[in-house]
Amino acid sequence: MIPDLSIVVPLYNEAEGLPVFHARLCAAATAEGRARGLTLEIVYVDDGSRDGSAALAAGLPADGLDVQVVALSRNFGKEAALMAGLDHARGDAVMFMDGDGQHPPEMISTFVRLWKDEGYDVAYAVKADRSDEAASRRIFVRLFYKLLNFGAATRIPEDAADFRILSPRAAGALRRMTERNRFFKGLSSWIGYKQIAVPYRPAARAHGSTSFNFLRLLGLSMEALTSFSPAPLRLAAAFGAVLAGLALLYGGWIVVERLFWGIPLPGYPSIIVGLMVIGGTQLLVMGLMGEYVARILSEIKARPVYYVADHALNRAVAVRQEP
Ligand code: UDP
Ligand code: MG
Repeated sequence: MIPDLSIVVPLYNEAEGLPVFHARLCAAATAEGRARGLTLEIVYVDDGSRDGSAALAAGLPADGLDVQVVALSRNFGKEAALMAGLDHARGDAVMFMDGDGQHPPEMISTFVRLWKDEGYDVAYAVKADRSDEAASRRIFVRLFYKLLNFGAATRIPEDAADFRILSPRAAGALRRMTERNRFFKGLSSWIGYKQIAVPYRPAARAHGSTSFNFLRLLGLSMEALTSFSPAPLRLAAAFGAVLAGLALLYGGWIVVERLFWGIPLPGYPSIIVGLMVIGGTQLLVMGLMGEYVARILSEIKARPVYYVADHALNRAVAVRQEP
């Protein structure tokens, strides 16, 4: 029996809050399934947790829903876990949500309504406000999206979460994207179709703390930039052009000064400054290009994005109403 909707939940060291989360998710999903005559499944992807999340997930009761547990061979990161979930989801439509309780399962019915009744292909949750975050972080996020969307054909919406539903054709479109460096939010907005934002207020993390520290976020930002935007390269080129232009003008000015007014050349300091500016800029731009080259290398190596160590399917025991 193929489910109508799969709910993909990546897990990384979420054992502590998992039983409670699972109960909430099951209640919300079963109610939704009953109300609409849909069959649903949950796909837990254990992303190499070290706290036994995988074993715990495999032992969870399948309350009227099929529960798949896909355990990856190590920690591959959330993006890889989401892809593993998409690959294993048997449903035509797929929903994604975090397993830390920050994405309220009760929103399933809103997402299903937008997909089923209003014909949206992608409905994604967007943080209603960011006032709880530090101003520096908000500025960083703002700048990041400005750069990301600079000259882009499809805008990647600001503040969107991975919390979203994809209709069958949107999920199909995503499945056809085989690139290895994945920025899920970007990919699912790039495919087009009918998309809508749903404002939501993320709950506090039920247990533990976020695994996305500053460095990891920076890594994700580079991922997003290099796979969605040539803007950094263009900015680098523009900056280089401006710098070269200024240098040329200044050079010309010195010549004029020397020839017509006999002013002696101001030497050492200006040379050092010039050297440092040019040297620094060149290194920066090389590093930037290196980021793009690294992505090319990893795409060419074409390694699998993840490996599955264990896969369990816990079939629903409750009898479902067949249409
Ligand atoms: N996660 C994952 N692999 C990782 C890091 C996180 O699968 O390497 C999962 C995690 O279990 C959670 C979701 O991704 O379900 C979001 O992670 P987190 O809450 O740490 O991030 P934040 O909410 O701060 O974005
Ligand atoms: Mg979280």
